[in-house]
Amino acid sequence: MSTANTVIFDNGIHRNILLEDFGSGGAAIQANQHVIIHGKEGMILDPGGHKIYSSVLNETLSLLGGSKLRYIFLSHQDPDIVAAINGWLMTTDADAYISKLWTRFVPHFGLDHLVVERLKPVPDEGMQLALAESTVSILPAHFLHSPGNLHVYDPISKILYTSDLGASIGMDYIEVPDFEQHIRYMEGFHKRYMASNKAMRLWADMARTLDIDIIAPQHGALFRGKEMVNQFINWCADLQCGTDIMENIYNSSST
Ligand code: FE
Repeated sequence: MSTANTVIFDNGIHRNILLEDFGSGGAAIQANQHVIIHGKEGMILDPGGHKIYSSVLNETLSLLGGSKLRYIFLSHQDPDIVAAINGWLMTTDADAYISKLWTRFVPHFGLDHLVVERLKPVPDEGMQLALAESTVSILPAHFLHSPGNLHVYDPISKILYTSDLGASIGMDYIEVPDFEQHIRYMEGFHKRYMASNKAMRLWADMARTLDIDIIAPQHGALFRGKEMVNQFINWCADLQCGTDIMENIYNSSST
């Protein structure tokens, strides 16, 4: 198991770090964890499940140094994001944020009554979180893929953290070198997991209003640079997926 981390932005006071490949190997899907640190406060995005919990916690605490973990962001309710949430809440003072759709389901992962009040609901429209002297935005990304799905935009690093949107599986690089060549690693996943082209378009319209240098998904490689970011947003806006193409599956049923 690797313990590598990659700094993807650093201006001296504000750092964005990718914790890379803690979960790679075996049957579990590869997942990225991201940490944002501004001065004395930090947040972890989609911390993951039990198999990686102690490695990710130790790495996060060492990156934080004397700074404090203020937030745990949960983009949606899947186990590769939420399963270890009780440990994170028991060992830190951070508050966890998740869509209001999921706050009554997450306790089934085994939330202790001592920490349940620190799981906070995010409204459908999203919200702002103050991180030391900076502010990050929680943005809607509903039905991409979860009905209550959220992204994080960090205006200092200009990184949009896109959860399962942009996920790729099976390549060996951590930054996409060529968008067209990369489509093969993400197309199947997006066609099956993302709900519909309408959900994609609503998100793309929002994303086009943001100044984005990097799109950082929760699985696979990130997209760096305005041209790569625009290619990805355009690809999403045009993709037929989910309910758009469900007939194909029912029509090919053997029953
Ligand atoms: Fe998911």
